[in-house]
Amino acid sequence: MNLTVQEFIEEYKTQFQTMFAYSYEEGTTEQHYTALGIFIKNYLSRHWKETRESYIKEGAKQVYYFSMEFLPGRQLRNNAYNLGILDIIKEGLTELDLSFDSIAEAEADPALGNGGLGRLASCFMDSLASLSIPGNGNGIRYQYGLFRQKFVDGYQVEVPENWLRNRNVWETRNNKSTCLVRFGGNVWLEPNDKGYYEAKYENTLNVLAVPYDTPMVGYRNNKVNNLRLWSAEIPVEEEANYHTLDEIQPISEITQVLYPDDSNYEGQLLRLKQEYFMVSAGVQSIIRHFRKYNVPRKNIPDKIAIHINDTHPALAIPELMRILMDEEHLTWDQAWEITQKTCSYTNHTILREALEKWPIDMMKELLPRIYMIIEEINRRFVDYHLPLYGERITWQTAILQNGVVNMAHLAVIGSHSVNGVAKLHTDILMSDVLKDFFEIYPERFNNKTNGITQRRWVHLANPELTALIDEKIGEEWKRNPAELKVFKGFEQDEETLKQVAEIKLNNKKRLADYIEEVKGIQVNPRALFDVQIKRLHAYKRQHLNALHILHRYLEIKRNPDKEVVPRVFIFGAKAAPSYVYAKQIIKVINSIADLVNNDPDIGDKLKVVFFENYGVSLAEKIIPAADIGEQISLASMEASGTSNMKLMANGALTMATLDGANIEIKDFVGEDNIFIFGLTDKEVYELKANQSYQSKELYETNEQLRRVLDALKDGTIPGLNGEGSAIFDSLVHYNDEYFVLKDFESYVDAQNRADALYAKPMEWTRKSLLNIASSAPFSADYTIKRYADDIWKVKQYFTGDEGVQPLDE
Ligand code: PLP
Repeated sequence: MNLTVQEFIEEYKTQFQTMFAYSYEEGTTEQHYTALGIFIKNYLSRHWKETRESYIKEGAKQVYYFSMEFLPGRQLRNNAYNLGILDIIKEGLTELDLSFDSIAEAEADPALGNGGLGRLASCFMDSLASLSIPGNGNGIRYQYGLFRQKFVDGYQVEVPENWLRNRNVWETRNNKSTCLVRFGGNVWLEPNDKGYYEAKYENTLNVLAVPYDTPMVGYRNNKVNNLRLWSAEIPVEEEANYHTLDEIQPISEITQVLYPDDSNYEGQLLRLKQEYFMVSAGVQSIIRHFRKYNVPRKNIPDKIAIHINDTHPALAIPELMRILMDEEHLTWDQAWEITQKTCSYTNHTILREALEKWPIDMMKELLPRIYMIIEEINRRFVDYHLPLYGERITWQTAILQNGVVNMAHLAVIGSHSVNGVAKLHTDILMSDVLKDFFEIYPERFNNKTNGITQRRWVHLANPELTALIDEKIGEEWKRNPAELKVFKGFEQDEETLKQVAEIKLNNKKRLADYIEEVKGIQVNPRALFDVQIKRLHAYKRQHLNALHILHRYLEIKRNPDKEVVPRVFIFGAKAAPSYVYAKQIIKVINSIADLVNNDPDIGDKLKVVFFENYGVSLAEKIIPAADIGEQISLASMEASGTSNMKLMANGALTMATLDGANIEIKDFVGEDNIFIFGLTDKEVYELKANQSYQSKELYETNEQLRRVLDALKDGTIPGLNGEGSAIFDSLVHYNDEYFVLKDFESYVDAQNRADALYAKPMEWTRKSLLNIASSAPFSADYTIKRYADDIWKVKQYFTGDEGVQPLDE
């Protein structure tokens, strides 16, 4: 199917007229977006159908990636690119006097995730399809995504993100594949005359799960996989029982918003409902699909891999048990063997508060049959392990503990594989967080360092850089990322370095224009662009960054004639609505921005820009323009990070603690080409263990630090209402949980090293080039290949030499 420009033009005009009943010349940008999206969806639909059919025909094992979050980003450009028709479309639209770029901007960016975990899921979808691996996503079609963030007087305000307002052109509502999900009521087991127990239910809340399927387009390989997002509705046959909106609410709320406020009982219950809803619908539809393979049920693990992305979908384990026993009538032992072989689990965090635990009473009431199964899994686990491992290990690894269901324990016990997401993180899981499990099941543990798709984050986000790499080393790196290392050969080539520097400057100019447009702040594109973009969290330490900015500000004020390397500090971050401290940090940074940006003594030497509503589309604009990527979490706290990889791949130098995947980045790029500072994970553990850290002492003895900290509360920063004092108190009086003050000095030193290097542009650009050329190991194509080979045991289904073939790492 080779589309020509002329064919596109004719078909597009017809498409537009069919949809809107007037000529394309009269269309709005939104209408063009809709028409173009539908055009592309029609174009790919044959591949979508054929991919699905070919997997069944070949009896292919399929992966189902269960995730409560996906952050796919806009899909128009990405789909056209992967299909190989982007340039044709662009050319055709230009001939029609339309701008592809403006049309693409009209797409809503689905914020169905919080951050790294959801974006990882979407990078994985892209790599699965591009590697010709049968891999599907399973998640929730939240009617409103994560909130839209606005700043009012520097404070974060959350408003609903109505991303479906203008219709989602990519999804297909699939009425054929709906499932029924039951909540609450009473359940009991009754022996029947066929020789097994039957589960009987009464007074349940029945919810219809309706799948919306979205194509996940592979890179130039004619493969289109499926992302299935579920929506909750009233079962058709029960419609007559529902009369008012209030009566419908318990159903419609299930898929209304992502992460409802879980600080109260009602909110938590809703979240648990969401988890089971997604899991039950997903597992039911997988088992139904499995029947098409016509093989015995014992072969389920040869045909299906269910991946549990963090603990949120861990109820897939008891749900699969339920279906295999109650509906497929297998015995407990048969069902358990299949379940364990089918399921695998990724841990994403060591933060205690993020390790899910559900009150037993809540689980029992909402999911009575599932709770019965969990109780039995736990009973058998304890019975088996008590004599072998003794009291301490057994009780510490049990699923039911002190009135709660420990979801991480359920996930580990019910899976054949448990992985962390960077080497250090996996080590910490094995030596600390899941250490007792590591003793029981050492063979289950493995590391799979996260990755990113270069297609979205380099090829599309940074077309000039991509064209330069193509020109220098050919295009093979796009299908085989390891080739990118050939680019290292140009580190001494002056002409190439000039080109890399010019591309960065162009990207910075574009971002500078955008900053002026949306924030009204003028920034100098030749200043060093220093970027920290990620969720706002105390462990990620945006406040350390803020202290450094304050330090710079005070230095310039004290020494106005001293030459400084001008910097633009750029932030993007949402805080959880109920996370007060994170919101205080946002307010403080916004107020520092007001102070700095409006001080005539400061001019271009220092600017601070905090973008509203950080998300994938904003990331695509910021990342290609970054000179420094801030990865400054307290060592041991960040599982992997992925913005670090995206920034590096676009030539930013990393300012980093030895945390998460920063360590691997340092190893690949070399320690001369990264700025490392701060405590190591071991030092952090030691300081915590011997309780010797006294942050107040640092405040009292370090004059530089004291000046900066005092500025938080002495009126230097205008517009604060106690937020600066709150941060001051946490750092000085409440002993600084995340060792911000302890790392401050070495952070400032590292930042000074960065200034000195930036003053030597060629040297800086050489390191930037080395970062670009060393980024291939962080391609999600490799990560997915490892999951496929080691955990899922799924194959790539090539029909020729098309697609991505990351063979020689
Ligand atoms: N949010 C978005 C939109 C992203 O693209 C990323 C980057 O990977 C993240 C959050 C996660 O950032 P980090 O890995 O720095 O926490």
